[in-house]
Amino acid sequence: MKICDVCGLPEELCVCEEIAREVQTVKVFTVRRRFGKLMTIVEGIDEHDIDIKELTKELKARCACGGTAKKGQIELQGDHKRKVKEVLSDMGFSSDTIEIRDADRKFNRKRRN
Ligand SMILES: [Zn+2]
Repeated sequence: MKICDVCGLPEELCVCEEIAREVQTVKVFTVRRRFGKLMTIVEGIDEHDIDIKELTKELKARCACGGTAKKGQIELQGDHKRKVKEVLSDMGFSSDTIEIRDADRKFNRKRRN
């Protein structure tokens, strides 16, 4: 039986990751890469609390795109901002704390999507 090293409960009883998901402030934005290709970046995932590899796998599957996780950031090929927000909400992230920014535009915290 695996024990969570944060709360000390057996893994099947542990809710640390669920709690963490609710309080994460996640930024989702697109950037332009070489040849004007758009990449969707998901930033603000705390790797200590959240299995970022698992999350990346889920996002890639639901957005049907390629992508990688590195240094606490998830990069997805193409523009999947709306879909990413939907997937994160489905997975228990609070949609109030997911901020979306379009490529080439200034970040606006107040804007709701
Ligand atoms: Zn725990």
